[in-house]
Amino acid sequence: MSSSVEEEKKDLSRKEITRRTKPITCYAVEKLPPKLGGEELYTSLRTAVSDGRATLLNKLEIPPRDAKSWKVKSGQLWRIVCTHGPQVADMNCWNMHNPQERFYSSKTRQIHATHLTTGDRLWSNMPYLRPLATITEDTIAYGFDEDGAGVHDVIGSRCDPYTHRLLTNEDYNNCCHSNLTRTAMKDDGLCEMDVHDVLNVFMCTGFTRDTNQYFTKPSPVEVGDYIEFLAETDLLVSASTCPQGDVSLACGGGGEPVVYPLGVEIYKLEDGYLERSGWSPSVVSKYAGNHGL
Ligand SMILES: [Zn+2]
Repeated sequence: MSSSVEEEKKDLSRKEITRRTKPITCYAVEKLPPKLGGEELYTSLRTAVSDGRATLLNKLEIPPRDAKSWKVKSGQLWRIVCTHGPQVADMNCWNMHNPQERFYSSKTRQIHATHLTTGDRLWSNMPYLRPLATITEDTIAYGFDEDGAGVHDVIGSRCDPYTHRLLTNEDYNNCCHSNLTRTAMKDDGLCEMDVHDVLNVFMCTGFTRDTNQYFTKPSPVEVGDYIEFLAETDLLVSASTCPQGDVSLACGGGGEPVVYPLGVEIYKLEDGYLERSGWSPSVVSKYAGNHGL
């Protein structure tokens, strides 16, 4: 830094220094361990299904205003597919063998961005902190528009009956949080506390430029669009079809959103396809410390 800049800074308040400093990206993402198998493998996965290198193992439908869960073995692919009309999904995922390890939305946001797309990974919570899954294809690939809105956000949480109650003074049992909770309790032996912050699949959101408030726009998803993931370890995944439909109406703001079912497809890759490129399941953090205790 030149001495004249130093001189200039001496006379500035901390606030003024902050205002004049350009944003500093917190995490040097390029220093993260490279994807096992390499970028070429992940690029090839985008067309694995259409090229016949992956076969359909299981298919299910999430009914409107409800949730479904499914298991995906390490090295398998799954898709959430828009089958009937514009609809968003709130997705949770856990280590299949240890539900204490789960998707960590806020760290994923810090590492990647406010909205995820092809190549981004879904990281797990501490003390595990490893990729649970990688997004192999996002057919929407919306990017960011003039309002700063993007698709597949990790900035919002899920709609829930507690906030709904505060806003409307009514009880409603089909918010995404309740849909995920019901499925977790009925089908997966989990409890409400296991439901966590979601990946908002197909949802178009941002923060307003003037007041920095969370906003939504009608989802751009069209029939045939999908988001596809590679399971980097054995997973239990669950997703809710949001009662807000394409989220073109404000939460608790009245109106009757149109809600569609969504499709889920699970694929098995050709035997050895991943391993030939050097891929192997992700491993938990090697942090060996005890937090200084
Ligand atoms: Zn919802």
